[in-house]
Amino acid sequence: MQMRAGYYTGDRTYEVREIPDREPEDDEVKIEVAWCGLCGTDIHKFEGKNGASPVIPPIILGHECSGIVTAVGPKVKYFKPGDRVAADPSYGCGKCSYCQQGLPNFCLERHGVAKGFSDYVYPPEQNVYKVSEKLDLKNAAFAEPLSCVIHGLDLIQIRSGSAVVIYGLGSIGSLMLQMVKLSGASVIIVVEREKEKQKLALELGADYAVDDKEIEKLAETFNIDYVIECIGLKATMEQSLKIAGKNARVLLFGLGDPDEPVSMNQFEAYTKELSIYTSYLNPNTTKRAVALLESRKLDTDAIISASLDLEEMGEELKTQKYAKKGKVMVRLTGKH
Ligand SMILES: [Zn+2]
Ligand SMILES: [Zn+2]
Repeated sequence: MQMRAGYYTGDRTYEVREIPDREPEDDEVKIEVAWCGLCGTDIHKFEGKNGASPVIPPIILGHECSGIVTAVGPKVKYFKPGDRVAADPSYGCGKCSYCQQGLPNFCLERHGVAKGFSDYVYPPEQNVYKVSEKLDLKNAAFAEPLSCVIHGLDLIQIRSGSAVVIYGLGSIGSLMLQMVKLSGASVIIVVEREKEKQKLALELGADYAVDDKEIEKLAETFNIDYVIECIGLKATMEQSLKIAGKNARVLLFGLGDPDEPVSMNQFEAYTKELSIYTSYLNPNTTKRAVALLESRKLDTDAIISASLDLEEMGEELKTQKYAKKGKVMVRLTGKH
């Protein structure tokens, strides 16, 4: 049998190819993909920049997928055909020195095991998570981005009653905002230039939605305890450090350009006793991401800007027509 897969083939080109389908081996779970989210890192790769790892085309895009198990390898214990699942695309061997310390995001053998722009994926059992009937498979595909958000928030440990600024209301910023709301912040400010996204920010629970000029004024009226940067531009990352208050924690979550290093005034940072965090992937957070999605405490439908077929993704990767507005979901079987 043949299956489709959406490839980045280099030089800003995308191609849907027919490749052989196969049966799962050993501890592999064969998942018929229902939905896969388009991630900012997919766009990064398409534009010739590196994602979390170096990119050597041709590669199958996508890593945020959900679906239904159709077959399991002989060593699989906990899954069977028909199970509804989400996959964590990031493989940790469980044996290397980093995995031994509970840091699979730095696994020496780390690689992608669920390239979701395809009809089937074959992750090992340890990367597969059951999803209950309560959760639509389209929303279940948010497990991976949400697991990354949870890791970032685990690192900065927001204390109740704090003032929090979030830069950017893309799909990650929208998840961050809702998670920060759940964490008991007293004030949430979203920095976003687009009026439509400002409106969405207020609907999703922000107290203020302002642009990058207005934030400088507003930051004088609060001591900003946390800043979460979800854009990745040099200018907004630098401003994040500037508006952060005394004893603040700044999380640089947006994927920055390696050729555009951020400059900071270390003396100013010293007088504020600033803590700067970065967050790499999603170690051991997928289970909690699925639990949160199942709880329906997060509105993921509000974040989705379009549902497109695999064949429509070449155009979307080029124009980012819908990606600019929110989360693009790629429809494989489209099952719910
Ligand atoms: Zn992603
Ligand atoms: Zn490892």
